[in-house]
Amino acid sequence: MNPYSQELTRCNGSESTGNTRKRLQSRPFLQPRLDTKMDLSNTQIHNVNVKSQRILISPAELKARVTVTEELFDFVARSRLQIQHVLDREDPRIMVVLGPCSIHDVEAALDYAIRLKALSETVSDALLLVMRVYFEKPRTTVGWKGLINDPFLNDTFEIEVGLEKGRQLLRDVLAMGLPTATEALDPITPQYLQDLICWSAIGARTTESQTHREMASGLSSPVGIKNGTDGGLDVAINALQSVSKTHRFLGINSDGKVSVFETRGNAHGHIVLRGGTSGPNYSKDHIAECEEALLNAGLATNIMVDCSHANSEKNPALQSTVARDVAAQIVAGNRSIVGLMLESNLEAGSQSISKDSSALRYGVSITDGCISWATTEALVCELAESLRTPLKQREHLANTRQS
Ligand code: PEP
Ligand code: MN
Repeated sequence: MNPYSQELTRCNGSESTGNTRKRLQSRPFLQPRLDTKMDLSNTQIHNVNVKSQRILISPAELKARVTVTEELFDFVARSRLQIQHVLDREDPRIMVVLGPCSIHDVEAALDYAIRLKALSETVSDALLLVMRVYFEKPRTTVGWKGLINDPFLNDTFEIEVGLEKGRQLLRDVLAMGLPTATEALDPITPQYLQDLICWSAIGARTTESQTHREMASGLSSPVGIKNGTDGGLDVAINALQSVSKTHRFLGINSDGKVSVFETRGNAHGHIVLRGGTSGPNYSKDHIAECEEALLNAGLATNIMVDCSHANSEKNPALQSTVARDVAAQIVAGNRSIVGLMLESNLEAGSQSISKDSSALRYGVSITDGCISWATTEALVCELAESLRTPLKQREHLANTRQS
């Protein structure tokens, strides 16, 4: 006899004795089905809701397919170090993470990168520009989940192609001499791409997730932790403490074999204020509150302000207002703000996703609305201009404090 049907008969038998049976029989919809002898031998009980599985290329195989030169790895290492120096106050510049909300068109992303590289050179004495190369989009409900998940935007979910396109684009952006930033969302993908990432984010929807904190503790790049979607600081402060510690958890190794990872902890975690359902959180008072919360938790007072998302109340045009306000705080003597984030694309605004890619307008976001390239260029130059001298003063203060 099938052990499951034996188990069921026993359960049904004991359930149906005495008072329990009478009680159940008096409730018409809850009567136990005593007469049914279920044979589960042919019934699937594992992966019941899984439709299919496909074995994916391993991280080592993808790296062999999209090869990267030693010079580029050197550039990644140097860029991570520059970001660490900003966070450690050995470099007085402000780090600006900017670029599209998501990459859906590799050609447009490269077009953007060429312009950003030229701009980064003109402001490099005041600002360290890092390009957003975001491939994984967390959704509040459902929707397109990014280039890796569905690279053809048509629900074909060619994840292997997505990973390959992603790796190629990161390589090409780095080859132009631009540091790269991304959101680490899926806990497996860092094994495929993190060697080409200079700065990572943990998003507002996943800051509270243990899986993401564990992953961030092992990421090779500095990591920005967004405040939670409600706009509160607690979840991010808890995350920062967790991320700096060692963890043991499951992942895959470069051959794709399930492995137990033990991490060192990420020494360069910092908060990213992005506002929330309670409203924006970049004002002087919000920054002071954040500084106090970081100090109370024994964390470095390093704050990046995301000028988009709930801080711009999802109106891309307000990003400039946020950035100018934050710059004015630095000019007025703020010491804790070390970075800014902008969502910027070739063209302003956003458009609805279309399965017919020829219907999409070139250089326009298909996720969050962005500021245009023209606005970005003018804003970044204005920020550099207003911050150049105050940042030198900041450096001077840091040096006199040290000596
Ligand atoms: C983003 O950076 O595009 C993003 C999704 O941010 P957040 O997690 O703050 O919503
Ligand atoms: Mn966004």
